[in-house]
Amino acid sequence: MIIRKAYKYRLNTNAETEQLMSQYAGNCRYLWNKSLALNLYHLQNNQPMIWYQELDWFSKLWKKSDDYAFLKLSPAQTLQQTLKQLERAFKDAFDKKQPLKKIPTFKKRGERDSFSFPQGFKIEGRRIFLPKIGWVNFRKSRDIEGTPKNVTVSRQGKYWFVSIQVEMETSEPIHPATSMIGMDMGVKRLFTLSNGDFEAPINVDCFKNKIKRLQKRLAKKVKFSNNWRKLKEKINRLHTKIAHIRHDILHKFSTTLSKSHAIIVLENLQIKNMTKSAKGDMDKPGSMVKQKSGLNRVILDQGWGLLKTFLEYKQLWLGGQVMYVDPKYTSQTCPVCQHANKLSRKSQSEFECVLCGHEEHADVVGAKNVLGRGHRLLACGEKDVSLLCEAGTRQFSNELEPAVA
Ligand SMILES: [Zn+2]
Repeated sequence: MIIRKAYKYRLNTNAETEQLMSQYAGNCRYLWNKSLALNLYHLQNNQPMIWYQELDWFSKLWKKSDDYAFLKLSPAQTLQQTLKQLERAFKDAFDKKQPLKKIPTFKKRGERDSFSFPQGFKIEGRRIFLPKIGWVNFRKSRDIEGTPKNVTVSRQGKYWFVSIQVEMETSEPIHPATSMIGMDMGVKRLFTLSNGDFEAPINVDCFKNKIKRLQKRLAKKVKFSNNWRKLKEKINRLHTKIAHIRHDILHKFSTTLSKSHAIIVLENLQIKNMTKSAKGDMDKPGSMVKQKSGLNRVILDQGWGLLKTFLEYKQLWLGGQVMYVDPKYTSQTCPVCQHANKLSRKSQSEFECVLCGHEEHADVVGAKNVLGRGHRLLACGEKDVSLLCEAGTRQFSNELEPAVA
């Protein structure tokens, strides 16, 4: 397994190197802001984004002009890295899996001053060679392990630092646990495990009520007035706070789960599709719009997608696994006799098998069935578990009810 790591050291700069570094960082900031402004303009006018290739072409044009000739003084790769970083920042901001990432913002002088080299640098003992700058000593506090892939020079306060990103091959980790667990994500409970444990949904109602109140006040203010802006800023801060709270909780849960179980089995629910389907389409204008859109809100609210992502990468680090199984009828199949019947599901939370009379909390039933399918998948590579279930479920529609099913 290849892992990435970064080492950061303080550089021993002199007036000359500092002057060059300030200039290079300044040029990168200039290019960032100019390219950002261009893209924001495009976004506002519903025009396609300008990605790296095109921006790079533009920047070469700017370098040739008299007005922006100062860009020529910078090492070309630092400018290209800036454009790549901008592209990355935009792509992250549009990525639904990274709700905390925002649209990139303008850089101010002296704030986050930095520039990066993907190549052309050399490290020897306690000094580093930077293109167009030369050899600079650094305060080596610990040895560098792995192959350096790129370096970033940045300013913090009055000092300059170098961050060296390395890549190294490590042996596959062996997971500390040996157990396997099934997990059912739900609405009334955030998730339920096949061992009966569960977690309550994440509750951020107090912040949401506050936002609602502020939004009512906002509606009465004159748009773009000073008070309007202040209120808007306050609302945005609350939204960020909610996102952080959710992030923290999901991190806590996923860490505990990942450390305790070598294999975590989940239902293969297409969260995107589930949240989209409420409106229906031309042929079937959504008959369940109201219930489903309520459900969709909860699904997005709870951050199931985020929890899945966290579990996946934490299991990867620890040498564990996340397995996905077919979600069909997991909440209607009896974990004891395997009889699948819609009628066994008495309510949102109650399960009572119509054949053998087995009674259990419906979410635990779901999690147990998920685990069972995981075991079967491991044992005989059985992929289409739904076929097995369908034999016993002909009597009712095979339309899967989203999430609660
Ligand atoms: Zn049964």
